[in-house]
Amino acid sequence: MDKITIAIDGYSSTGKSTLAKQLAKHLGYIYVDTGAMYRAITLFAMQNGYISAEYFDKETLVNSLSSIKLSFEFNSELGYAEMYLNNVNVEKEIRTIEVSNFVSKVAEVSQVRAKLVEQQKEMGKEKAIVMDGRDIGTVVFPDAELKIFMTASAETRAQRRFDELEAKGDNVTYEEVLKNVQERDYIDSHRADSPLVIADDAIEIDNSYLTREEQFAVVLELVEDVLTSLNK
Ligand code: C5P
Repeated sequence: MDKITIAIDGYSSTGKSTLAKQLAKHLGYIYVDTGAMYRAITLFAMQNGYISAEYFDKETLVNSLSSIKLSFEFNSELGYAEMYLNNVNVEKEIRTIEVSNFVSKVAEVSQVRAKLVEQQKEMGKEKAIVMDGRDIGTVVFPDAELKIFMTASAETRAQRRFDELEAKGDNVTYEEVLKNVQERDYIDSHRADSPLVIADDAIEIDNSYLTREEQFAVVLELVEDVLTSLNK
């Protein structure tokens, strides 16, 4: 059976990681959440006082990049890999609204992107990978056999993210989450380096009115079509 590369891009909180995890599990592929990598660098910048609501010391962050080690370790109980920053599991810390509020600023920095894209390309060398992010089909794997671009209304996405954060016990309001989603959409789509754009050959899926199961079925059919056409 041919192994392919699946690139999933799209706006914040469109359920990219849920879909990517489902696909990876079903196909026996590796799943890589590239947002987690940008979030881990952001956490590092926060821990070291390089970024706050008032300022961002980009230069010091860029000079520290060589001392940042990012790795994923598979957690068999959860069924997916967790993010490690310099050998410390940061899976919980990187999902807070504070990290979400700073991450798009950090993701604008070209040196940060270059470091992460290099590591992402390396992880995908053997194919059999599902990677989600903002620039996977355009920059990381422009030759991916299947590219999906996910959208949904900002309100739908904010409600889903709010429900998730609330269930985890985070003290946030829906308005705060909606503002964060809209701000990240704007910064991610307008940055100079690798902006969030739909790749010419990506298939767009608006999941505002799709359940997880319906969406999975739609995408699985696309995967099967690609695999069939490769085997012809
Ligand atoms: O996917 P997630 O919402 O966790 O991503 C967090 C942020 O990381 C995005 O809003 C974006 O600023 C940045 N990001 C990126 N490129 C990627 C993945 C994430 O710029 N490939």
